[in-house]
Amino acid sequence: MTSNRQTSERVVIVGGGISGLSIASRLVQSGLPVTLLEATRIGAGASTRNQGWLHSGGWFATQHRSLARECYESLQQTIKFCPECLEPNHDGMAYIVSDRNSDTDCWTESWRAAGIPFSEWDRDDLLRSAPALSKSPIHRVFRLPDGAFRPDILVNHLAAAARNAGVELLTETRVERLLYEGDSVVGIRTGTGEEIAARLVILAGNTGTAFLWPGSDGESVGRQSEFQRVFLRTHLLAVEPEICSLPFCVIDSVGINHIPHQKSSVLGNDHWQVVNRETRPVVSSSESLTLYESVNRFLPTVDLDTQVTKTWAGITVQAMHVTQVEPGQAPLTTVIDHERDAPAVRNLLSVFPGRATLWPQLAEQTREAVLAKLQPQFLMAAQPPWECAAL
Ligand SMILES: Cc1cc2nc3c(=O)[nH]c(=O)nc-3n(C[C@H](O)[C@H](O)[C@H](O)COP(=O)(O)OP(=O)(O)OC[C@H]3O[C@@H](n4cnc5c(N)ncnc54)[C@H](O)[C@@H]3O)c2cc1C
Repeated sequence: MTSNRQTSERVVIVGGGISGLSIASRLVQSGLPVTLLEATRIGAGASTRNQGWLHSGGWFATQHRSLARECYESLQQTIKFCPECLEPNHDGMAYIVSDRNSDTDCWTESWRAAGIPFSEWDRDDLLRSAPALSKSPIHRVFRLPDGAFRPDILVNHLAAAARNAGVELLTETRVERLLYEGDSVVGIRTGTGEEIAARLVILAGNTGTAFLWPGSDGESVGRQSEFQRVFLRTHLLAVEPEICSLPFCVIDSVGINHIPHQKSSVLGNDHWQVVNRETRPVVSSSESLTLYESVNRFLPTVDLDTQVTKTWAGITVQAMHVTQVEPGQAPLTTVIDHERDAPAVRNLLSVFPGRATLWPQLAEQTREAVLAKLQPQFLMAAQPPWECAAL
């Protein structure tokens, strides 16, 4: 062991994605010594393989009002903390209603109630700025403050903030085992056999730390007190050159969403399939076909045979409370204290961001959970780095 099991005050975070990095900064700021271990390189997982949709919360507002509010707050914090991660020249996102019989009031009321600013967008103006879009499936359009962001830039910025704040950040270091004394976690063992003692371990490895969850399968509701972990897969495709510089989504069908990234456009259909503990995402031909078909309905002039440069799938784990309904519908940030979950394990937390956009919310929620557990004697109460300092 690199530090004594009895005396270590160290918090060990497993996983160097957007979750682990933001939590690490926040905990070290609270006066806790933090080591973060990343199996490969920083941001190698879903954090840099995602679509880059910086959610305003508008997409979730009809299903979950407080989630929508949290998204809007996180979007503002992201813009303040790392403006350079935003794709340039966007002025909001077009929320398209494709069916004239859709209940548009239900959307506008939910945005109003969640405090998300919106305005109606003139359909002809929209079509002028996005000529590739087909006119026929577009009935009404609203402008909301969602954006397109570069996940790699945000992740690197978070890593720099963590290092500057004093986090020990070890890459190419895979955690293979948790070390136990009785029902308490007292450290971790890496793939090279090194042991690191810890007062608390936080699993922030998305699919890659599922095998470390306590219990035999770690997923099933019933034997678990409150949470079910659901592996969700979705498909994306990249089209080059960029179709148009307008981010848009279709809100009243399993419609597509489009996130422009300078040289290319990334399209998805927000269809999240529950998969069985898949850790390396497998591209499903039927899902790809469904995505192609919906893209074609809204963007008929795009030649998908010649312009699609890449189709890929990605997986994220969502921790659903037993009261939640549909996986993928309300991707709430979740912090599980395994002491209160079954089987009870002390000094172990698992964290799930829901969406990358919600990283500041997850960091804050985790900090509160850690401080409530550890009750440090000397609490440094710094503002989050995303609220104040330039790097
Ligand atoms: C296809 C797809 C599209 C998405 N699009 C969006 C979007 O547009 N907007 C949005 O807000 N959200 C989006 N999301 C969700 C978002 O990307 C994820 O919720 C978020 O990135 C998860 O971050 P994370 O840090 O928890 O996990 P990850 O980014 O997966 O990071 C986990 C890290 O842990 C490391 N690790 C794993 N196991 C170990 C181990 N045993 N030891 C050490 N290290 C380990 C991995 O190497 C990895 O770097 C999307 C997700 C997917 C899959």
